[in-house]
Amino acid sequence: MTVWVETDLCDGCRRCLKACPYGAIDMKAKKAVVLDHCTSCGACIQVCKNEAMLTDVVPREIPDFTDRQGVWVFAEQRKGQLTRVSLELLGKARSLGEELGQQTAALLVGNGVSGLGETLISHGADKVFLMEHALLDVYRSEPYTIAMETVIRDHRPNILLVGATHIGRDLAPRLAHRLGVGLTADCTELTIDPGEKILLQTRPAFGGNVMATIANRYSRPQMATVRPGVMKAEEFPGHKGELVNIEISLTSEMVRTEVLDSIKEEKRAVELSSAKVIIAGGRGVGNAQGFEVLRELAAVMDGEVAGTRVAVEEGWISSDHQVGQTGVTVRPEIYIACGISGAIQHRAGMMNSRYVVAINNDPRAPIFQVADWGIVGDVTEIVPELIEQLKQGRENVIGL
Ligand SMILES: Cc1cc2nc3c(=O)[nH]c(=O)nc-3n(C[C@H](O)[C@H](O)[C@H](O)COP(=O)(O)OP(=O)(O)OC[C@H]3O[C@@H](n4cnc5c(N)ncnc54)[C@H](O)[C@@H]3O)c2cc1C
Ligand code: SF4
Ligand code: SF4
Repeated sequence: MTVWVETDLCDGCRRCLKACPYGAIDMKAKKAVVLDHCTSCGACIQVCKNEAMLTDVVPREIPDFTDRQGVWVFAEQRKGQLTRVSLELLGKARSLGEELGQQTAALLVGNGVSGLGETLISHGADKVFLMEHALLDVYRSEPYTIAMETVIRDHRPNILLVGATHIGRDLAPRLAHRLGVGLTADCTELTIDPGEKILLQTRPAFGGNVMATIANRYSRPQMATVRPGVMKAEEFPGHKGELVNIEISLTSEMVRTEVLDSIKEEKRAVELSSAKVIIAGGRGVGNAQGFEVLRELAAVMDGEVAGTRVAVEEGWISSDHQVGQTGVTVRPEIYIACGISGAIQHRAGMMNSRYVVAINNDPRAPIFQVADWGIVGDVTEIVPELIEQLKQGRENVIGL
């Protein structure tokens, strides 16, 4: 794979020099010269208007995927209960499917779970592929991967979405490897490219400092995982769908793990991803006592308390309350950000909140860019005042 300059065609415009990300082009006697450390990335070829940059690299041909049809969702269930993220993904899959003119399907894997089919249909599935087997009773990597791989190879979907839960994070990469396809993890946005009709998968990259949009041109299905709370579940009353039973041949010899017991982790005190009101605190709250005041506000507003990574690292609040790129994603009706600067990694977890109220003593804090209402001031003064006003307001209403 070589890139070279046809010197007769080169007019020395230097466009290639500016475009080369590796500094692998030099100018000699007003002509471009490709240096030894060229990686054959092709960036210079695209910018040369004289077609003076040549290569022997044959462009990779995009295979014909017209037989790959359907936007599928892994309908994760635990003990016969569908996870919320599965329904959220179905809503998204349906809108993607409509854009592509393709059907939406859910993959329901388990044992004795056929009753969940109706819920999946009412949340947008045109088809529910049901795979039931005694060995699929409790999630285990091997039998679930075998079951999913079988149905995907037989029915050839175009897109497969998986919730980024503990199970999804285990299953999706295994499956992608078996199928020889790419996987984009933790997407925050999924759209269809209007020209190429491929899935554009957007996710934070480089520590959350940029949003990267990733597309997969060369293999199918296009696979992505999405965290709970990022998409919105939708109901489609009266929607009709079909339940398709898939025979799976599994033997215990195929499964090398056995579940002896399952012990549920002590229930978390918070369910942030479904909270309607969230009072979140950051470094500006100052200390653990400051968080007690936030809890008081949360109690008055029937909300939950959350925090930034800084607040978690300071030990003011436990890690299961962290909102953001490495915490939970939330979409409450009201998000009150107290003493939070609004770093991109934090915003990644709360930007879908309906209304954002920011309290910060720095008027230039980035959180104000995403706030519907901003209060510039000291959080230690404003929050107690807010509690007082709300209590007062409540008493007045009750007293009426
Ligand atoms: C890979 C990676 C992943 C990350 N993941 C997350 C994540 O999931 N969640 C997350 O939150 N962060 C995450 N971070 C950290 C993130 O970059 C920020 O450092 C963090 O969100 C900042 O927290 P903060 O707003 O509490 O603190 P700061 O940025 O220090 O902001 C404190 C704010 O409080 C204001 N303030 C100070 N005193 C007062 C007062 N008395 N009254 C009112 N306002 C006051 C200040 O003006 C300031 O704006 C991640 C970082 C990286 C690199
Ligand atoms: S962009 Fe093309 S014409 Fe311009 S310097 Fe490079 S090789 Fe020469
Ligand atoms: S192919 Fe890529 S690395 Fe090589 S000279 Fe062109 S831009 Fe630079």
